[in-house]
Amino acid sequence: MNAPLPVEVLKQHLIDPEICIRCNTCEETCPVDAITHDANSYVVDPEICNGCMACVPPCPTGSIDNWRLVVRAEAYSVQDQLGWEELPQEKPLPVDAAAAGEGGQPMPAPQAEAGLAQTAAAVTAATPGAAVPPWSAAHPYVNLYTHKTPITATVVGNYRVTGADTESDIHHIVLDFGEQPFPVLEGQSIGILPPGVDALGRPHHARQYSLASPRDGERAGYNNLSLTVKRVTQDHGGAAAHGVCSNYLCDLAKNDTVQVIGPFGHTFLMPNHPQANLIMICTGTGSAPMRAMTERSRRLIGTADIGKLMLFFGARTERELPYFGPLMKLPRDFIDINLALSREPGQPKRYVQDLIRERAAHVRGLLADRNTCIYVCGLKGMEVGVLDALRDVVVQSGEDWSILHDALRREGRLHFETY
Ligand code: FAD
Repeated sequence: MNAPLPVEVLKQHLIDPEICIRCNTCEETCPVDAITHDANSYVVDPEICNGCMACVPPCPTGSIDNWRLVVRAEAYSVQDQLGWEELPQEKPLPVDAAAAGEGGQPMPAPQAEAGLAQTAAAVTAATPGAAVPPWSAAHPYVNLYTHKTPITATVVGNYRVTGADTESDIHHIVLDFGEQPFPVLEGQSIGILPPGVDALGRPHHARQYSLASPRDGERAGYNNLSLTVKRVTQDHGGAAAHGVCSNYLCDLAKNDTVQVIGPFGHTFLMPNHPQANLIMICTGTGSAPMRAMTERSRRLIGTADIGKLMLFFGARTERELPYFGPLMKLPRDFIDINLALSREPGQPKRYVQDLIRERAAHVRGLLADRNTCIYVCGLKGMEVGVLDALRDVVVQSGEDWSILHDALRREGRLHFETY
């Protein structure tokens, strides 16, 4: 008699739709394009995923790190997963499949070979930035509050930080946590759960916002934090759109309450050692983490040895640049400010990458110092231009950009947060 064929078991990679905040990081990171999404969910294609784990560390919520042992022929398809509101329960495997699964068989082969130790290397290969924080970064708390256990914050401030006559409606919003712990670090973000339901009657998913305040509060010593939120009135293509969460936040009044989850983020963190230099490159609301880091450094003046701060900040006009007034009041020997304005009447168009090239000598000097970390935050489209400019600056001096770029990533000194 023929023996039955062994049943192949798959350790299937799944994303928890209840926790996922749809930030797109996993899809961007996946080196084999196994992750896809529709208007509702992000899912992993079992036909493509090789279990390399590259997507796991960058995921801010941990929703990516879910696995189910399944018979390979019965793996959950992309279509199955797109319909889920929550992950299915683990199903018992058939006896012969369970036996086949013992001894590590269900691991997808590349993951079994490579092992988790190579995860950071896999991420490094797939993304332009580092998968690890700077060596001296303080240890962050993440995921203290989830969509099932959100924390309630009270709005204690909400005002516009761009010119009233401009199209760009950006708000500075201060949230207070009262007696409840919500420890954060500069560079981290939080999730906001907007009230109400989407077109299909499902609760809106959380939206992510970077902190604009330092670890000790928007007001030092207070249990509060601030956000920089742009009201979305157009989609990325310029068509009229009503952003669910950004409009909700920008319309909040003092004493309103907000459901918050997080904090998120364990790599885009500032160095914590004296003499660390920061090169900060941002556009629009990408200024939020730069404000947090700058304010952290400013509060340390007189108590610690502060390194150099160099800021490249892009906007269409001065009046569309959030925090323009307070920024220009900072002492020039504390921060080297470079404003790139692309639509200022009577001035040539300039983008952050133009200014990086103009300030090549200074940028090169800072890059040569291993105490320097670079942060890029803002529009997704800026990544390529910024990388090209940094490469040009380095190549001009006869150095090899690919060697330096690898070192910056390996040493947790180059970080991107674009959306
Ligand atoms: P939605 O209802 O989700 O979208 C409405 C329409 O607008 C859709 O067509 C959508 O594609 C389009 N759209 C979405 N976002 C934008 C946009 N920014 N510009 C143009 N069209 C858009 N936003 C901030 O304002 N400040 C921050 O500090 C900030 N930090 C972020 C940090 C991270 C890591 C990530 C991933 C995102 C961050 N965002 C930030 C973006 C934020 O999470 C929301 O995506 C944004 O506020 C739009 O949400 P919404 O609910 O208003 O729009």
